[in-house]
Amino acid sequence: MKHYDVIILGGGLAGLTLSIQLKRKKPDIKILVLERRKDNAPKAAHKVGESTVELASYYYREIIGEKEYLEKHELPKYGLRFFFKSHTKEVIESRVELGPRKWLYTPSHQLDRGTFENHLASRTQEYGTEFLLDAMVKDVEFGKDQSTVTYKHNGEEVKATCRWVADATSRHSFLKRKFGFEKPMDHAVNAVWWRLKGVIDITDWSESEEWKNYPEVKLRYLSTVHFLDKGYWVWVIPLGTKNTSIGIVADPAVHPFDTFDTYEKSLEWLKVNEPLCYKMLEPETPNKMDFKILKHFAHHTGRFYDGGMRWGVTGEAGAFLDPFYSPGSDFIAMNNTWLSDLILRELGGEDVQFRAEIYEQTHLGLVESWIPIYQNKYLLMGNAQVMSTKILWDWAIYWAVPALLFTNNAFTDLRTLKNLFGNENGLGHKFRKIHEQMQKLFMDWQKYDTEIFEHKFVDPIDLSYMLDFQTNITRQHGDKLLGKVGENIAVLEKVAAEIFRRVSNHAKGTSLDMAVNPYTMDLENPIPEHNEALNVPRDEKIITDVDVLWFYEEKQFA
Ligand SMILES: Cc1cc2nc3c(=O)[nH]c(=O)nc-3n(C[C@H](O)[C@H](O)[C@H](O)COP(=O)(O)OP(=O)(O)OC[C@H]3O[C@@H](n4cnc5c(N)ncnc54)[C@H](O)[C@@H]3O)c2cc1C
Repeated sequence: MKHYDVIILGGGLAGLTLSIQLKRKKPDIKILVLERRKDNAPKAAHKVGESTVELASYYYREIIGEKEYLEKHELPKYGLRFFFKSHTKEVIESRVELGPRKWLYTPSHQLDRGTFENHLASRTQEYGTEFLLDAMVKDVEFGKDQSTVTYKHNGEEVKATCRWVADATSRHSFLKRKFGFEKPMDHAVNAVWWRLKGVIDITDWSESEEWKNYPEVKLRYLSTVHFLDKGYWVWVIPLGTKNTSIGIVADPAVHPFDTFDTYEKSLEWLKVNEPLCYKMLEPETPNKMDFKILKHFAHHTGRFYDGGMRWGVTGEAGAFLDPFYSPGSDFIAMNNTWLSDLILRELGGEDVQFRAEIYEQTHLGLVESWIPIYQNKYLLMGNAQVMSTKILWDWAIYWAVPALLFTNNAFTDLRTLKNLFGNENGLGHKFRKIHEQMQKLFMDWQKYDTEIFEHKFVDPIDLSYMLDFQTNITRQHGDKLLGKVGENIAVLEKVAAEIFRRVSNHAKGTSLDMAVNPYTMDLENPIPEHNEALNVPRDEKIITDVDVLWFYEEKQFA
């Protein structure tokens, strides 16, 4: 029976990148990757997970070492781009557009999942990993010093032993089902998607030359495009193989799944909800490459890592929340970084049980704190002012804290984790608290927001703090990292307080100079009785920044 240091169950995005991450750190590590698919992945019509954002792009480019491949064979990405509802959704240039008009400083990519996975499979074999197709995992028996994995390869039952087992079987969730650590996730959104042969550039969807030429030609094409209205968003993502991915994601409370769960119904649904998409996409039907559906795709987990029994789950075998901000690969990056660190330390002779508990608590805490970003928020997607403020907030916190912590290797540094999360006043808890407050504010605000806005363009980089957060994502801060995180959170406090002042002024007529404590602010009780010392003063720079995202007429907050 063959023995390995690590057997990875499932050779998709998470499993393959984990194997490469391990090999790049320890070239002599013995790894077996078992993938049940019989052949190479098809181009384009393979899996979703095509749009990446900054944290994941840093992981794929720098940590997995695929910068050159990505720049040559996959598409560069021009940020996330959002189009809100207007009176006439048929006229694309009438819709409020939120997205960058220049290249973002920190790069990201659009992935054709088929070509990327095939490439990763070749790369991992070049690094010396055994990668088997047609290898279906059947069972794992955990032992004190080694575990035994049983799999079916080319129809034959085979057993192999290993020190560590990594479950990367995605929704098959091998270990979660074996040990029963499923956990309910209260976010029941549904999705369908299909790929079309050929390039679709939404810039061609307008007759207006002025709109077409601003921002620069092709930059809208390279974005992950979102069309939004109450209860849903529709994606258009370009793929490097010159194909296009289209998807509908919707909350069943507004759009029941049986109204769009077949291709024919999806087109009818588009005709009603996104008539321009219908007009442009329906004639492409002969170019349809696939059509997939996924009901209630968000799922949670009670466990991630076990340092004693030496196993971990990664990718969608653990948890998945929502694709709205394309975070799937971000979570793979963090997940694999924790898991590979545990594996390498343990193989080096370290007892990693305590460390595994800390990583698991941090990881679970991160997932939990991300849930309010999406939960019930589909109900806000028809409110351009509330939703664009929320998107800019969600982006800001992501760039300012988790993305920065990741690129600075903080997630595997116990001292930093202790400083962040070790006590109730730590920066990690402040971050979580202020972010929860803002998610509540967006919900409370909705009932006061009744206007439909048109012909507006918001570039996140026109907000000076957004520009600062974006350009600094990969800057290395060494032992000054916590100081930088603290500075970023202080800016976020000012932004939160300023947004609250504007919303409260609009909704309740309170003064724009009102004292605000961003940790206790409450729209239903906007003039609080609290400790003056905790109030955040107004800041001229932040006022100018918030002006950029503020659509209400000035008289409403004069
Ligand atoms: C609607 C939707 C849209 C999304 N969009 C994005 C996006 O734009 N950006 C983003 O970053 N993320 C996105 N995601 C998330 C993204 O799809 C996942 O993060 C990613 O695909 C997970 O990779 P994985 O390796 O865990 O799973 P997969 O890539 O699915 O790999 C799992 C592998 O395990 C194999 N397998 C399963 N069972 C066994 C077994 N018993 N034996 C052997 N092999 C097995 C499977 O064949 C498969 O190849 C989206 C998710 C959804 C639901």
